[in-house]
Formats: sequence, structure tokens, C-alpha cells
Amino acid sequence: MAAALLALPTLGLVTAFGIAPETSTRIVEQAGVVEAITLPALAIRAPSPEESFVAQDRIQRGDTVAAVLARIEVRDPAAVDFMRTDAVGRLIFTKLVPGRIIQAETNAEGGLRVLRYFHSSDKVLEVKRSESGFKARDRALAAAPRIVHRSGTIRSSLFAATDSAGIPDAMAMQIARIFATDIDFHQDLRKGDTFTVVYEMLYESGELVSPGRILAAEFVNQGRTYHAVLFHDEEGTDAYYSLDGTNRAKSFLRSPVEFSRVSSGFGARFHPIFKNWRAHTGVDFAAPKGTRVLSAAEGTVVFAGWKNGYGNAVEIKHGGAITTLYGHLSGLASNIRSGSRVRQGEVVGFVGATGWATGPHLHYEFKIGGMHQDPMRVALPKATPVSPALRAEFDLAAQSASETVAAVRGSGNTRFE
Ligand SMILES: [Zn+2]
Repeated sequence: MAAALLALPTLGLVTAFGIAPETSTRIVEQAGVVEAITLPALAIRAPSPEESFVAQDRIQRGDTVAAVLARIEVRDPAAVDFMRTDAVGRLIFTKLVPGRIIQAETNAEGGLRVLRYFHSSDKVLEVKRSESGFKARDRALAAAPRIVHRSGTIRSSLFAATDSAGIPDAMAMQIARIFATDIDFHQDLRKGDTFTVVYEMLYESGELVSPGRILAAEFVNQGRTYHAVLFHDEEGTDAYYSLDGTNRAKSFLRSPVEFSRVSSGFGARFHPIFKNWRAHTGVDFAAPKGTRVLSAAEGTVVFAGWKNGYGNAVEIKHGGAITTLYGHLSGLASNIRSGSRVRQGEVVGFVGATGWATGPHLHYEFKIGGMHQDPMRVALPKATPVSPALRAEFDLAAQSASETVAAVRGSGNTRFE
């Protein structure tokens, strides 16, 4: 197997996994025109029985409590006195974090009914007026997910498509992460690829707190359709599965370089360098210095440190006698040392040019039983499927997910061209 691989000419290696440089370059140069559809999925707030005014704003740099309360129409000296003296309420005076959301419900005169300050990602300070006066508590967020459906077509890049579809960056990166065992988002994307995604957005008191989980997704890349359904294993751990029940994560990433806004633009223009595979024994991924390098699969670190021509390097042992090596790193992630356990997609280090490297790139090696293999071509171990005990439950979940995705995809895409 290895011998047959090594005998292949470079051109064979390149065409074998579908790089079409001219196509790709053209995609980059085209303006980002995207089609996107939106289903009305957002609930409407029920009107309050008594007249109530709701206002919200974000904390700004250099803000004061007085200034922010004025902006959200709170004119209530008693409420301010309470917050100044209450052990919990005074939190607002010590914790004004720029960018965080503050929301007030007041009466027509600006008298405070409820103040909610979302000061951290998982807690909210709530000040409420009751019969007996004000009460403050700092409580965990009880965020309620809303389900959002989006669909889009790649015209220039994934981020251009998700921007136009109104999908937040965090969600775009989740899409890339979920499909990373099948699609190298730096190189495999083509104009006309489509995606459909069903995901949660977490709201509390009408305020978007954070993007939640992707529940189901479909990606059509170069004519091949991939699905992902969120499902749990027997221990209750959530993971993404294909419709046939194979666990998407129980395979290797197509690219160990993190896909991001920065690396996406870079990777599309700079293909990995395959030349001289015979002498080279690895694949080079051009990427900006500092780009995060990810473990291709779960495993145990067997080497972390300086390794001659490799510069700063990390080597990881996976199941099935497979090891992967990441070289020329500018630095290692702080928790990576020999013996560390790593999950798939965990950051092991950062792209650099240490050792024998002429410019920043990741040098990536993939070995089976100590023999070098081309990671782009090697037949990888089959992913673990859903356990037989959960099969019936999974089949129902998968059917429901694929019906939802089909409904979103087929609901009359609006073209903005
Ligand atoms: Zn190299």
C-alpha cells in the first residue's frame, strides 16, 4: 500500500483528492453573492398585562451605572440607592463589562420594575421591585433555546455565505468543525456548494445570550451530500452522527489547521505543498503564523518539544497504531506535554516556521505502524456506529432531522443576485 502510494507521481496525488487550482482561484476572486433563506422561527413576546416599557443596551467602554441607566430609561433614585447598598445589587457597580447587555422594565415614569444585567456568559444580576421593596439576586441563566433554520449557497467563501444568511461566526465555525472529518474547508469548497443548518439560539428574557448547538445539518460539497445529526451515546454524551448512524468524530480531520475567517482566506489561495512527497514524508499546510493547529483525532501525546528539523513539534498516538506529527510550530498549547490526552480538534500548538522551514506552515505527518502514509489518501479506520441498544431511537431522530433539513432546503430559496 505504502509502496503504491509512493510510486504515484505528484500530479496523481493532487488530482486524487480533487484539488482544482484554477477553479479555486476563480472562487476567491468572485464577489460574495449568496443565496439564503430564512424560515420564520422566532417567537413573539407576549404583551404584558399592565403597561410596561422594556429597553436594553450594551455596556460601553468607560460607562458609569448612571449613564447606562439613563440610556435604558430608568429614572428611579430609590432603585439606585438600593443597588448601591445591597450586598448583591452592588455587583453592578463593580462589574460593568463592555459589550454586556443590560435590560430594564419600567413604568411610564421610569420607575424600575425589573433590571437584568447579563454580566457574564452564564449569570444574570436581577433586581426586582416587589411589595416589600427591591430584591436582588445573581442567578444562573435559564436560557431557552429557539430553533433557527438557515440555508445558503457558497458563492465565494463559507463566511460570505453565512454572513449573508445571518448566521453568527460561532455557528459557521461549528459547521466547519462538524463536517471537518469529510471536508477540508480550506480547500474542498466549491462555488455552488450548499448547506442547511438547524440550530439553537439561547435567549433569556427576550435577549440573545449565546448561540447554542447545531441540531442537524447538511452540507453538499462537490456534489456529495453529508449529514450530521446531534445524538447521544449510552453515557449520555452528545455527538454528531451521519444518517447511517456512524459517529462523525470517530474519524480523522481532513485538515489539522483550524478553519477561521483568517485561515479561510489564506488557505484558499495557498494550497498545501505536496511536492517531493517521496523525500518529504509529510504534507505541508500553508497558513498564517499563529493559526491554531488541531489534533486530527483523539489520542495521547507521545512527544512535545524541539525535534531538530521539525522545530517545535507534537506527536500524537491514536488508536489503530496510527500516529500524527505536527511540525514547525511557533509554540505549543500550554497543556500539551508528553502523556497528555487530547480530544479530536483540541489545540496542540500554533503554526510557525521553527526548524528547517522557509516560511510559516504546518508540516503534518501521518504514520500507520511507523510507516509514512499520505493522510489525504489513506483509508481510515471505520467510524464507530450508534450502539444497537440505541438504534431504534437514533433512526427516529435521524428521520426527523432529515425531514426538517429537507423542508428547510426545499422551502423556495430566495436568491439575492
Ligand atoms: Zn513539511
